[in-house]
Amino acid sequence: PVGRRMNYEMVIGLEVHAQLKTQSKIFCSCSTTFGKPANENTCPVCLGMPGVLPVLNKKALQLAMRACLATNCRIAPMNRFARKNYFYPDLPKGYQISQFELPLGLGGYVNIRVNGAKKKIGLTRIHMEEDAGKLIHGDNLGSPGKSYVDFNRTGIPLVEIVSEPDLRSGEEAREYLTQLKLILEYAEVSDCNMEEGNLRCDANVSVRPEGQKEFGIRTETKNLNSFRFVQRAIEYEVDRQIKILEQGDSIIQETRLYDSNKGVTFSMRSKEEAHDYRYFPEPDLVPVEISDEWIKETMSELPELPEKKRERFIQNYKIPEYDAGVLTASKEIADYYEKSASLYPEFKVISNWVMGELLRELKNDGQKINESPIKPEDLVELLKLIDKGTLSAKMAKTVFEEMYQSSKTAIEIVSKKGLAQITDSSAIENLVDEILQLNTDQVEQYKNGKEKVFGFLVGQIMKKSKGQADPALVNKLLKDRIN
Ligand code: ADP
Ligand code: MG
Ligand code: ZN
Repeated sequence: PVGRRMNYEMVIGLEVHAQLKTQSKIFCSCSTTFGKPANENTCPVCLGMPGVLPVLNKKALQLAMRACLATNCRIAPMNRFARKNYFYPDLPKGYQISQFELPLGLGGYVNIRVNGAKKKIGLTRIHMEEDAGKLIHGDNLGSPGKSYVDFNRTGIPLVEIVSEPDLRSGEEAREYLTQLKLILEYAEVSDCNMEEGNLRCDANVSVRPEGQKEFGIRTETKNLNSFRFVQRAIEYEVDRQIKILEQGDSIIQETRLYDSNKGVTFSMRSKEEAHDYRYFPEPDLVPVEISDEWIKETMSELPELPEKKRERFIQNYKIPEYDAGVLTASKEIADYYEKSASLYPEFKVISNWVMGELLRELKNDGQKINESPIKPEDLVELLKLIDKGTLSAKMAKTVFEEMYQSSKTAIEIVSKKGLAQITDSSAIENLVDEILQLNTDQVEQYKNGKEKVFGFLVGQIMKKSKGQADPALVNKLLKDRIN
């Protein structure tokens, strides 16, 4: 193989679809509950029967406004729905109600961190739209050649969040998605449950020779439903495009799909342009006017967002940036940490235990922190026992595990098992004497300068005490005795 003639830069823009957390659909009162029998959540409106009229769900609009404000978008005082016309069997009306020339939100941004540096990723627009249905192909269901359609999803409210082509690597794309998801979760806009299709991503990718100003021709890879796949699809697509350019050929602007089993993208159809969709204003819905007061009110209802929380954690609790990142990775983890910190002002110690022991146990069990059998009060009680010298740090870890398994409190476990650390000097002196008598040879060796025997003797004493002797005291008393 010949080396590359030049270096290339990749350019990526993402379109993210997020399901808004409403109980009913965007233009009718059907339920949005996931996992119902096929076509149970349907009515004439979302089945696109002739003569029906859509009515906008106010809650969906409110959540979409939240999405805009949480990502620093300007909310358009006047916005309008539009029909996007295309034929597909999962789209009963033959058009999707979306927004086109007057979207809800414009010009926002999301901050990401890559290799320690902050980078601002621009958002072009956020608009509202309805989801389509779902095709189920019979090949795996014992009815080869047949396809079925489930309309439970038609009319589920979505926001589409379109980024500027500001991303420059698969890793940046993944980080952007991570932050965006976190913001939508914090703002309670969407559950962002990727297994249920709450969050889906299309990746637009192009490459250009380093130093070139104009963007290259892009492809769009559709419906990526995990962050890992987004990153991999982008990396695959970049390689593919560079190879084509290196051969002197040009990229075809097209829509592609990702095969996660093979790790490749493949062509789905040539790229459609806006005019192919014959967009026009939706005549069945009035334009939406949004007053300044309503925007202000929505703004005031937004909870603290992840970036702010991270900064506050670093400031208030004097913990490293890394810790603050882990502890704000979900609102529930952050709440857990803050509750613990309010009960015990050793902020870094708490951070270590939450990030280490607790999150590890929960991850092993596939549990969320709100389901933790160890509550903040329980953790703090354990940490106080270390402070008092009742438990060594090592014993505390054992007690922690038992607390996690049995849901008993630290004090219950310590008293039931007689686990408390031995800090009584005379008890330890007895142990020291016993070990010295049993190991006269080793004591002789130590006296002759073989210093590492000391560690062996400490080990024997600790073992004899079943790990309960205070190690610092053992060291001191042993030294006194031998000398
Ligand atoms: P379309 O409806 O054609 O997909 P949109 O405006 O909805 O167009 O989305 C275009 C997306 O593609 C945006 O995220 C934008 O940042 C991105 N994009 C545009 N041009 C390029 C390019 N040359 N390379 C990579 N991404 C691009
Ligand atoms: Mg697109
Ligand atoms: Zn309906």
